[in-house]
Parts: sequence; structure tokens; C-alpha cells
Amino acid sequence: MGGTFDPIHCGHLLAAEEARRELALDLVVFVPSGTPPHRSGACSASAEDRYAMTLLAIAGNDHFDISRAEIERGGVSYTADTLRAMRDVYEDAELFFITGADAVLEFGSWREPREILRLCTLVAVARPGYDYEDVERLGEELGGAVSLIKTSSLDISATGIRNRLADGRGAKYLTPGTVIDYIKKKNLYTALDGELR
Ligand code: ATP
Ligand code: MG
Repeated sequence: MGGTFDPIHCGHLLAAEEARRELALDLVVFVPSGTPPHRSGACSASAEDRYAMTLLAIAGNDHFDISRAEIERGGVSYTADTLRAMRDVYEDAELFFITGADAVLEFGSWREPREILRLCTLVAVARPGYDYEDVERLGEELGGAVSLIKTSSLDISATGIRNRLADGRGAKYLTPGTVIDYIKKKNLYTALDGELR
């Protein structure tokens, strides 16, 4: 499961757990994205802070793990590169790429789409505000290569959390307490420019 995780929240965690349960996956690997060198405004928190928050959030779930593949690679993160890296680490594994229903709809603009479909099954998890029908249509266009998970989902976004924190409303219950403590300690998301809201 890739993402900026800026910050990670309960919507990500529930989506990952629901996909794992529905598809009987052995492991969900969270892959925080790298920081594009020429787009410093793309993420609010640094790659290391996003990594640290993700690590805190997944603690206690034996079926969750984290990868530094995209952070170490740096620059823009391409899913095909990440899947090849996963293939090298988990040699005999069947790979699934978990996204929310919003992210999968952008598949048309991803690099090396055919290679991605060769390497993995795309998984789209329900996300409030996004239609199943659009995802089903995409799945048909791609010859059935999208597995749609229609289960409980939470109406939480990292953008919403960044806005709440910038306004001083806090993020209690939207993300684990350990992540909130980290955000407070590192003084993250206290002031945001308009672009990140
Ligand atoms: P932002 O608001 O900054 O875009 P986000 O909440 O969308 O943040 P991302 O890091 O962009 O989080 O998302 C990583 C992946 O998790 C994407 O595939 C996205 O669709 C999925 N995702 C994020 N939030 C949810 C949610 N509440 N339910 C299901 N999937 C989600
Ligand atoms: Mg997003």
C-alpha cells in the first residue's frame, strides 16, 4: 500500500486491514513515498517523519510491515519501480497493490501500466465519496485486473487532518494516539500554505 501518509490515519489502517482480511493476504507492506527533489511543496512532513509516523501507526499488527524502498530511492515514486523492488524482496509472493477508490481511478496516468498489471493485482478499497461504478468500469477496461473491496470505510483524509491541525482542532481518534503524540513532539502541521490544504 503506497501513499504519502502525510500523516497516516485510521482510514489507511482500516482500508489495509479490510483488504488483508477480504483477500486473505499474509502481509500488508506500507510504502511511504519519497520526496520529489524539485517539488518540495508536495508533502508537508519530511520523508523521515512520514516514515516514523507510519511505523508508529502499524505497531501491534503482525500482518503489517513498512518499506523504505521509495524513500531510499528518492525523487518521484513510481509504482512499477516499487513493485519490482517488492518482487526482489518477496521472491515467490503474489503481489497486490492496495489503493483507495480515488487513487485507482488515476491509473490511466501511471507510468508503465502494463508492467504494473503484469506484476500485481490492483486492489481498490472503498472510500467515502467515490463511486464503485467508476472503479468497476475501470476494472472492465483493464480486463478484470482490479479487485474491488466494498467494506467499511472511514471518511478521513490526510488533507482534512492537516487542516484541523493548522486550525488547532486536533486529530484525536482520526489517527492513532502515538501518531498524534509524534506530531505534537515534532510540531508538525502547525502552519500550512494554501496549496497543502
Ligand atoms: P491526502 O489528503 O494528502 O491526499 P490521503 O488521505 O488521500 O491524503 P494518501 O497518502 O494520499 O492519503 O493515500 C494513500 C492511499 O490510501 C491512496 O491509495 C488512497 O486512496 C488511500 N486512502 C486514503 N485515505 C483513505 C480512506 N479514508 N479510505 C480508503 N482509502 C484511503
Ligand atoms: Mg490522497
